[in-house]
Amino acid sequence: MKKFLIFMFPVILSIFLFACGVEQEKNTNFYNLKLAYDSQNNTLSGEMVLDYYNYTGEVLNDVCFHLYPNAFRENSSQSIISLANYNRAYYNGKSYGDIKILSANKDFEFVGEDENILKLKLEEPLNVEEQITLKIEFECVLPEINHRYGVGENTINFGNAYPVLCVYENGEWDMNGYNSNGDPFYSEMSNYQVQILFNDIYKIASSGELCNEYIEGENRIVDIKAENVRDFVFVLSEKFQVIEQKYEDITVKYYYYQDEKPDESLNTSVLALKTFTELFGEYPYKNLCVVEASFVHGGMEFPNLVFISDSLNSYETYTTVIIHEIAHQWWYGVVGNDQYNHAFLDEGLAEFSTALFYEKNPKYNISRSEITLRNQSNYNIFQKVYVDVLGSIDTSFIRPLDEFNNEQEYVYTTYVKAYLMHDSLFELLGEKKYIKCLKEYYEMCKNDIATPDDLIKAFEKGSGKKLENYFYSWFEGNVVIS
Ligand SMILES: [Zn+2]
Repeated sequence: MKKFLIFMFPVILSIFLFACGVEQEKNTNFYNLKLAYDSQNNTLSGEMVLDYYNYTGEVLNDVCFHLYPNAFRENSSQSIISLANYNRAYYNGKSYGDIKILSANKDFEFVGEDENILKLKLEEPLNVEEQITLKIEFECVLPEINHRYGVGENTINFGNAYPVLCVYENGEWDMNGYNSNGDPFYSEMSNYQVQILFNDIYKIASSGELCNEYIEGENRIVDIKAENVRDFVFVLSEKFQVIEQKYEDITVKYYYYQDEKPDESLNTSVLALKTFTELFGEYPYKNLCVVEASFVHGGMEFPNLVFISDSLNSYETYTTVIIHEIAHQWWYGVVGNDQYNHAFLDEGLAEFSTALFYEKNPKYNISRSEITLRNQSNYNIFQKVYVDVLGSIDTSFIRPLDEFNNEQEYVYTTYVKAYLMHDSLFELLGEKKYIKCLKEYYEMCKNDIATPDDLIKAFEKGSGKKLENYFYSWFEGNVVIS
């Protein structure tokens, strides 16, 4: 595969260098990725050139990257899937994958027992606000698995399939690894120019905008730009059918293969985009791809692209997952947060935004109060059972994914209890003030990383009330829900 890479890229480069014309802004990291997928061997070869800007406020001696695919190695110490989901994920028996670093323009070493962090060591310290160009050549092996990263039963999913810059904070690089609870990712806004080569039997869905494409032999080569996004993802499938619809100047594309109501799914997607734009603020991109995918969980958010699992048990659930994942374009996408340590920030809001969507669109015949009652009842049962069995329960929000005792505790805390917190704020403040607070949160934190304290600040500003104690009673798990 490496040979293929060497022969192929100079040809592509000569034709398409700067074809996308991504405007490079100072202070925004710029990834230039050249990828080639070999469907015979399930491998993705890549060359990455990163223009890295040191806006950490500190002099740096190294730059670190997450190598998420190494969580899929044999005997990995990181958990990628809970036991309960094991058989649905590994549809063909156990399968492994990884990412190998073939070369870099700096000395490098790996950190972590699964080599999940790549550290490039700089020859000279990189001063504050200085820029450096880093080059990494890599090869990914995709496992056979219905997951973010892997060859699934119907789609090939390329989530986190390249070295992703770690976030630098509090004097160190964030190095959290994979976890089967939640979405263990944390990244900052960057610009991307990506060229992807793949066999023309496949159709592609991706983050960003397609700038150019052409056929070379049996391969299709696409040139994509994605500006001001936290990540870049693409999905391939031989089975994709595509329909699209516009909302103002944004194109919503729906990729599907077994959905029997594709027009309804597309309509819901467009309506979600419209409803959330009106409620929270603009969706600052030209494209949104909603993708039916081989995925073990219900759905997954990426910038400009969401997975909706092809194995959900009802069309009502499928619709709810579409709405939830599109809400993440605001909460995770535009307003980012550390999903490893503060998962409740984006999940709680995506859940409550879904209820707001149903409230604003009565034709779906689901009301916010109905969802709230169901969540209260489920949460109380969960609490009772856990206290009965274990004697006590931890429902605090602010803790890393690996400190949740199991998937149930994660889901009931991060989704259900965080939903109930937003619902109680909605009741306390009234709809008008609650929405004003969310708009404030969006404006205050857009393109940035929000913390739990930012959520409090935005709600105090938007409502004119002192809410810190109120929020902390929820954050710390003291609140009594009845
Ligand atoms: Zn979610």
